[in-house]
Amino acid sequence: MSDTPPLLETDHLTKHFDLGRRQVVHAVDGVSLAIAEQEIVGLVGESGSGKSTYGKTVVGLHDKTAGSVRFRGELLPQAYRPADFQVHAKKMQMIFQDPYSSLNPRMTVGEVIGEGLRLHSDLSAQQVREQVAGWLKRVGLEPDHMSRYPHEFSGGQRQRIGIARALIMEPEFVVCDEPISALDVSVQAQVINLLGELKDSMGLTLLFIAHDLSMVRYVSDRMAVMYLGALVEIGPANEVFFEPKHPYTEILVGSNPEPDPKSERNRASTTIAGEIPSPVNVPEGCRFANRCPKAMEQCRHQTPELIPLADTNREVACHLY
Ligand code: SF4
Repeated sequence: MSDTPPLLETDHLTKHFDLGRRQVVHAVDGVSLAIAEQEIVGLVGESGSGKSTYGKTVVGLHDKTAGSVRFRGELLPQAYRPADFQVHAKKMQMIFQDPYSSLNPRMTVGEVIGEGLRLHSDLSAQQVREQVAGWLKRVGLEPDHMSRYPHEFSGGQRQRIGIARALIMEPEFVVCDEPISALDVSVQAQVINLLGELKDSMGLTLLFIAHDLSMVRYVSDRMAVMYLGALVEIGPANEVFFEPKHPYTEILVGSNPEPDPKSERNRASTTIAGEIPSPVNVPEGCRFANRCPKAMEQCRHQTPELIPLADTNREVACHLY
């Protein structure tokens, strides 16, 4: 963990969805995480682990069920009203996984990218057009693309449009929700490099949500591992990737394709036995116990807390430590 004071901090952030008939989806259950200015934290976990819901709750797209989010120490609203987006859109933005579904197909690219400025700034229409033209260039597109529609672009170009739409607001903190997983492998690196350049030039702080652990290790300072709505491990990205402590992280890393054949880590391909339990019926004790090869009796009834490991920068939630 960095010594710098956090730019963003969540304290026991919780998001539940009430399905009625006493059924509640425990999508995010008490996640405490502090992200320092200009830090990149990668958030990994299987589908259904709550990563995206956490990101959306942080930026105010979901109301918080419990817990809090602080930005530069300021407590953010439990539920955003339209006026709150006006204030906070400039601080926090989100880049979505599927660039096409997140772009309104009936709006031109210029309208899509300039929408935030039109809603949340005092700029004239001409000033917004100028900013949009500048941002199209900045993300590697042409200013005259602003009169075209999203369907006229490739997946990689649409993600560039999505990036321009988020960053034109000049946020300080950005949640990147699986920003490359819908793209061809050939363009993934280009989009990652673009994000890296913009992160450096704008001094951004990023929460990078992804299921590709190799990619997360490559782009992130720290890696946080989420399972069934809760964090189970967090630490420097390389350490978590090469020396996972939590049994879930160990298996998750083992099941991740290793892109570098010269990698020192000699990993047999591993799969995680069983299904992730339903977030409607969260098991008692350790949430991972029904799939954990190292489960002990106490794991079935005692919930492990996320605690710092002595003499490390790691935190792990497991009774083995
Ligand atoms: Fe496995 Fe027990 Fe650790 Fe959970 S607490 S990960 S069940 S050893």
